[in-house]
Amino acid sequence: MKNFRADIHCHSTYSDGTFTPEELILEAKKIGLSGLSITDHDTINAYDEAFALAQKHDLELIPGIEFSTVYNGKSIHILAYSFDVHDPRVREFCERHQRRRTNRNRAILEKLRSAGMPIEEKELQSTSTVGRPHIAQAMIAHGYVSSINAAFNQYIGDNKSCYATGDSFSTEETVELIKEINGIAVIAHPHLVYSPGTVQQLLALPFDGIECYYAKLNPSQEKRWLKIAKERDLLITGGSDFHGSVKPDIPLGCSWINEETFSRLKERYVENTT
Ligand code: AMP
Ligand code: FE
Ligand code: FE
Ligand code: ZN
Repeated sequence: MKNFRADIHCHSTYSDGTFTPEELILEAKKIGLSGLSITDHDTINAYDEAFALAQKHDLELIPGIEFSTVYNGKSIHILAYSFDVHDPRVREFCERHQRRRTNRNRAILEKLRSAGMPIEEKELQSTSTVGRPHIAQAMIAHGYVSSINAAFNQYIGDNKSCYATGDSFSTEETVELIKEINGIAVIAHPHLVYSPGTVQQLLALPFDGIECYYAKLNPSQEKRWLKIAKERDLLITGGSDFHGSVKPDIPLGCSWINEETFSRLKERYVENTT
């Protein structure tokens, strides 16, 4: 198909995005995308409604998720695609993540309270996954900070005074789960991995692809990841990481994959569900 573009990295109201699944699908149609994957943090609950909506609005949708993992003490995001969303193994893994997040968020709220910035847990609203952007929004609502960036930079960003790590899931066990459910495992936004050497180390794990195209990535960065992906015969993926008004300068569809790559994901999805 001519002009086929698919954005396979975006977030909905089921995690820290501000668009509902239907709003994401309508926006995708409006800007002329042919395919989409909604990759919420640590939840696949958007797919309870998203498949029917994609069909209604005639958009191709492949299941996806962005897992939070920890590798050598550092945060690493892993994208997974094309698994069966009804597989109990992925559902159970997501439930464990939700329990981890409840405890972690409580620990962050406790630190904020001690620092004179009380917030009630019930103020944090999301359809499924509650994360730090929700906490940042509550901080703004209370007038503790003036922007989401300020909340992260001053208090709740990694290693800041009110951050708490809580339990974590290792990158290894996450990739293992993705392989068990025959999904496609991709290193998300490798430029945000704390050192290029770490990306090389991560590639010792059985990843299927690297996210080489990403919002606002400069061409020299892109080239670096494309070279590594080609050398290792890995899938080259891309997406915007659209979050709606939480990250207002990043539009849906600003990074995308072509029809050939999307077909690879689709074939695997069909394999897993027929
Ligand atoms: P969590 O998964 O709850 O630990 O929160 C991390 C998420 O916060 C990331 O996936 C980003 O989407 C978001 N985030 C991190 N820094 C910022 C920022 N400065 N502004 C908006 N969102 C951010
Ligand atoms: Fe996010
Ligand atoms: Fe991410
Ligand atoms: Zn993301």
